[in-house]
Amino acid sequence: MNFFGDYHTHTIFSRKPFLPFNHAKGTLEDNIKAAKQMGLKELAITDHGFNHKYFSCSRKKMLSTKQEILRLSQKYDVKVYLGVEANFLSQDGTIDVIPKDMEYLDIVLCGYHKLAKPKRLSDKFKIFVPNFFANYFGTSKKLKERNTQMIINAIEKNSIDVITHLNNKMKCDVLEVAKKAVEKGTLIELNEKHCTFTEKEVRDILNVGGMFLVDSDAHRPEKVGKFKRMESLIEKYNIPEERIVNLNKFPEFLNLKRKINNK
Ligand SMILES: [Zn+2]
Ligand SMILES: [Zn+2]
Repeated sequence: MNFFGDYHTHTIFSRKPFLPFNHAKGTLEDNIKAAKQMGLKELAITDHGFNHKYFSCSRKKMLSTKQEILRLSQKYDVKVYLGVEANFLSQDGTIDVIPKDMEYLDIVLCGYHKLAKPKRLSDKFKIFVPNFFANYFGTSKKLKERNTQMIINAIEKNSIDVITHLNNKMKCDVLEVAKKAVEKGTLIELNEKHCTFTEKEVRDILNVGGMFLVDSDAHRPEKVGKFKRMESLIEKYNIPEERIVNLNKFPEFLNLKRKINNK
């Protein structure tokens, strides 16, 4: 299968100076070089959002990172986007991207990460703590409804290009999320690293018109552009090529389209 780009990769850009280790292993250049070697035409650098406790990218470094990306993009002849993997922070749909960030960001991914800083104390106790325990004891119906509503609110309130690793580590009603995603033009990710979709969930997404984006979620350069697990899933569940936005074509992202239209 020929994927034109990988739009979810991590680098040491999201390193916190106080931590003795790196969350991801490669530099910007390592990932871009890897993308070139894999024959990708496009790549996105999407480090963790600003409210992640340990691995967030820094607002202060956005401009210099963007400039570096532009330089490397030309050097390797790969189109490289600067994105972010934002965090859900609150039941009300708040994520950790503010309008000003869009000055530098091309695309916005968003996913659930247990190490994000909740917006309010009530979010900590209604979302983050129960979902932590749900990984061991199962998700109650009430929590699942709350999770679903949080994602729907976030898609409604923000311009989110892609929902990452949906239903992984935070269970929700995939069908309801997919309906909202279709309404707003948000893509649903097939994440090589964390994909737990059942056949029914894939069918539900397809039945309501959902569109998939295949990503590696690479945390080291050698994983960039490798989608073996997702290729098997696509074959196994017979997902039509036209429903995968980066298979044999370039995806269109909401935020990029808006930027072009505003110019
Ligand atoms: Zn993630
Ligand atoms: Zn990620």
